Amino acid sequence: MATEHFLNPCEALGVERYESLRNVLSESLQSASRTSDAVVNELSIAEFSEKEFKDLQFEHARTGEQWAYLRLTSGNYVAVDQVPHSFDPENIAAAVIFPAIHSRLVAWWLVHNWRIQEFMECAASSLLDDWNPSVSAVSARGLLEQVGCLFYEVSIVEEAWREAKALPSDNRESRIHARFNPLLFQLAFASRGLPTSQALRPATNVQTYVDKLARFTDDERYHAWYNWLSNAAHPAVGSRIVYATQPLVHKHSRLMRRRFSRLPTSIRQNCDVGLTVVHNAADATVELYRISSHLLDFGLRIVDDFCLTTASANLTTGSSWRQLVPVRGNRLCPCGNGKWRSCGHRWGAAAPTLPKPRRES
Ligand SMILES: [Zn+2]
Repeated sequence: MATEHFLNPCEALGVERYESLRNVLSESLQSASRTSDAVVNELSIAEFSEKEFKDLQFEHARTGEQWAYLRLTSGNYVAVDQVPHSFDPENIAAAVIFPAIHSRLVAWWLVHNWRIQEFMECAASSLLDDWNPSVSAVSARGLLEQVGCLFYEVSIVEEAWREAKALPSDNRESRIHARFNPLLFQLAFASRGLPTSQALRPATNVQTYVDKLARFTDDERYHAWYNWLSNAAHPAVGSRIVYATQPLVHKHSRLMRRRFSRLPTSIRQNCDVGLTVVHNAADATVELYRISSHLLDFGLRIVDDFCLTTASANLTTGSSWRQLVPVRGNRLCPCGNGKWRSCGHRWGAAAPTLPKPRRES
């Protein structure tokens, strides 16, 4: 009996695809290092009535805790702790509203970033370093869904910040709270299959994310990738397509032969049969690395623009990752996009807008 020839990952993927995936994995690991030790304490503020405000004020006076309160235009109150000891009382509204929103934006960005990173590494290394095609396909599918979700949410946050940045100073804090508080709650809390309530709405359908991402990128391959990877994630269908070659049908069509193997094998005359799933997983991962980098860079620009325009780092004694302190004039801006003067982190200046990704030629 002839010895079976098992393909190594480079043979199974093809040299070009193998190299692209290898590059994506190493770049992804490199950029992961900048957020691997990031920590943020997310601060959610809830509104309360005037009666509760008086009780809280009394309680804080008794315990000596330093709090700042704000009466919203609705007549309700909000409050935060960790207020710096000495700062202009005119900044109280900003101190109550902005550091909390910033902390939630940072958390929003970080969780997307971490999850994209995890899926990316798993999808790539499961083909390059070990041969685990099921794991790669399921991770690539998770990656596609996550990047779709990021695009969907980035668009919502972009619009809200564009409107907020253009607001006049009158009641600005109150109005930004009214816009961002429900929006960030909506992004942070949803469920699938659990009992829902007014507070916990059903999570957005994942297909919606995928459809919007395909439209945004103008790339019809997203639908094919998603269909292949979703089939590969199905326990019955998936296990049969991940380990099989494409069927070889005898010319009189009364006999079909499918080879199954844990590692990819070659039928000598025809090395390229089968492996459609892993090729889709690899191609999707390479392209999703490009798009997710584009979206994450942009998302972080909004988070930083919010932080620096509101000067929220100066309004709290709390600390978190990406708490950038405004500078002046020609000094380099801590956001990393050049000089402070040209960065536009000020009320009334244009907010960042998401550019269309360029198609790879
Ligand atoms: Zn800047």
